[in-house]
Amino acid sequence: MTLDLIPLLQSLVRIPSPNPPGDTRAIADYIAQTMRELGCTVTTPAPPNKPEAVSVIATAGTGEPIIMLHAHIDTVPVAADEAQQWHVDPYAAVIEDYRVYGKGSVDDKAPLAAMMTAVSHAISRGGERRGTLVLVAAAEEETGGRLGTRWLADNNHLPLCDFIIVGEQTHNRVATAHKGVMRATVRTTGRSVHATNPDRGVNAITAMARLVLALDDYHHRLAERAHPMVGVPTCNVGVIQGGSTANAVPDSCTVYLDRRMIPGEDPARVQQELVDVVSSVDIHPAQASVGEFQVSNWFNSTTDSPLAQTFLNCVREGLNADPGPIGYLPGSDAKHLIGVTRGEMVIFGPGSYEVAHAADEYTDIEELQTTAAILCDFMERTLFMDESR
Ligand SMILES: [Zn+2]
Repeated sequence: MTLDLIPLLQSLVRIPSPNPPGDTRAIADYIAQTMRELGCTVTTPAPPNKPEAVSVIATAGTGEPIIMLHAHIDTVPVAADEAQQWHVDPYAAVIEDYRVYGKGSVDDKAPLAAMMTAVSHAISRGGERRGTLVLVAAAEEETGGRLGTRWLADNNHLPLCDFIIVGEQTHNRVATAHKGVMRATVRTTGRSVHATNPDRGVNAITAMARLVLALDDYHHRLAERAHPMVGVPTCNVGVIQGGSTANAVPDSCTVYLDRRMIPGEDPARVQQELVDVVSSVDIHPAQASVGEFQVSNWFNSTTDSPLAQTFLNCVREGLNADPGPIGYLPGSDAKHLIGVTRGEMVIFGPGSYEVAHAADEYTDIEELQTTAAILCDFMERTLFMDESR
């Protein structure tokens, strides 16, 4: 039995899996059942502190090479102001103009459907097969992966692989790097007095204004560092909060910032840089602190191994164009899989991340068929003894 790509994608879209809340039981059931019928060994692990965040791991074959196909099964929710912007029901998987429309239709159910189809082809093809195929349909990617792929990796649910393909939106190019993110909170404290005589107080907003400008300088200096695929690191002050009324000197102000790290940047050093920027500005007698750091790591892979080179060739021939490698701008679960590969890892799939988290999300049917064909070709060249190429 081989799976039928487009009806499969429609079925996946028609099982909503928005995160939050991140309940993936229904879609995981469907995937587990489908993969069992194909003959895979299937497990459906979930973390004890979020038992409804079910992932699926389907395994076929034994021995080496061990190849993982990874996609996530949660989607972003349909936002309140987004619902009326859809021209179709976001969960109906309507086909129009050779596109499948729907929430999750490209992010990430399109690569998932292509991967499931490729596994079904490899199993049903016949002939002597070697190696192990592991399909991972992961929960919790849209909220950072800590209770999804990170949890699966840390709890030994994932085998050590020779090659990993993470399905995300790269227009079928091979991406081998994405940035990491450090979030941080900067606070200033001053002294509140009535606004009739502000000089008696210490204005925390004025102090923060100086820090914000210093952070902006830092952001511009970061442009001196550049990564060939993902570009420069950045520092963005995204939120500022302070004060309660115009007629009082504010005694506190807070900003939340987002520092994008390029591959190679050490999070501990980046943290120290932020501390240094804040302490370099004289805001006496106000005081400043920086903390509440949250890190989501970057990802970077080479493509030197025979498996990676074979994959690049499959993509080059499938697209009849330069396969990359390229950078991928958003983050992905690839960062959580670094410890489960002894080989290399790529990000690959149809579509663009720019249509992914928006109204009228769609996947282009022809592009998705190319994704599936490339994956099938890769299976053919790596898992079968009678390969002639
Ligand atoms: Zn995604």
